[in-house]
Amino acid sequence: MKHSNYKEFDNHPAAFQESAGNSSDSPENRAVRCTLCPHGCVLGDGKSGICRTRVNLEGVLYTTAFGNPCSISIDPIEKKPLFHFFPGTEILSLATAGCNLRCLNCQNWSISQISPLETDNYRLQPDAVVEEALKRSVPAIAFTYTEPTVFYEYMLEIAQSAKKRGVKTAMVSNGYINEKPLKELCRFLDAANIDLKCFDDKIYRTLTGGSLDPVLNSLKILKESGVWLEITNLLIPGVTDSPEMVEKMCRWLARKGFIDTPIHFSRFFPTYKLSAVQPTPESTLREAAQIASTAGLKYVYVGNNPSLNGESTVCPGCGKVVVHRSGYRVVENNISNGSCSFCGEPVAGVWG
Ligand code: SF4
Repeated sequence: MKHSNYKEFDNHPAAFQESAGNSSDSPENRAVRCTLCPHGCVLGDGKSGICRTRVNLEGVLYTTAFGNPCSISIDPIEKKPLFHFFPGTEILSLATAGCNLRCLNCQNWSISQISPLETDNYRLQPDAVVEEALKRSVPAIAFTYTEPTVFYEYMLEIAQSAKKRGVKTAMVSNGYINEKPLKELCRFLDAANIDLKCFDDKIYRTLTGGSLDPVLNSLKILKESGVWLEITNLLIPGVTDSPEMVEKMCRWLARKGFIDTPIHFSRFFPTYKLSAVQPTPESTLREAAQIASTAGLKYVYVGNNPSLNGESTVCPGCGKVVVHRSGYRVVENNISNGSCSFCGEPVAGVWG
């Protein structure tokens, strides 16, 4: 039977689509262009896009990633990482299968590089996700693990429902999304951590299959929309760790008004298609943090490397530790009414 493997799914109409076929084509032969992310896939009948979650069924684009997360758990919010957004709280985290990038270093490739038709899924409608957070007294929901752009409609409806019920939402994303859908999402989203993978378009294309400019544009949109934003930059030896590139990135961030945006330099460990690459040396992490501070970025963190003690928040005024972290745990919080309790300097963030 035609389209039989989509039959068991409650295919949900996809937002951001346009006809890409000839108007004389019959509906079932009509190609559809997905305009959700910069790939702009043109899909023939029965075909899915690069992300494997959007499919053209007889001239209409559907998402197969709605109400069917394959992964749900409750994490410390620091694990996202979000350090300036309700520190020390928990966050209900979920993902469906699929991703619009093909990162050689993907940590979650077993669910990101397949479609929701191939994973064991929960059945959870948007309101039920919010209900779950409330039932467990978790103040926020994160769209994470894979790439939430590819379950956009699901994420948007959860964020809308959460907003009505006083639950916060956060997106942990590669930022590879078009402007229009992102702006619509920003009306309901509270926080985001964007993975800025490097600052070189050629490396972006080889490493991820995406490109740099759309990600930079997403950073600007999130900031302008008032969504609390943090940035992660993974330092992969020999790929994304050149000090010159890190400096270029940090200078760009400072120039474009991101000095209050926390940046998390993350240590790479061998994984997936980069399993032969060695872990990031501590000296590289230290140097990147130094470059970022010199460029004027106020909140610089080093993650995935406990021995460097790079995960506590330091007051930009007096230099004292205002949020002391150990791993994903907040040991001490000296922020009061959004300011340092020692010197009164405002510390950017959403402190709860
Ligand atoms: S969201 Fe998926 S189908 Fe749409 S353009 Fe991006 S990769 Fe292609």
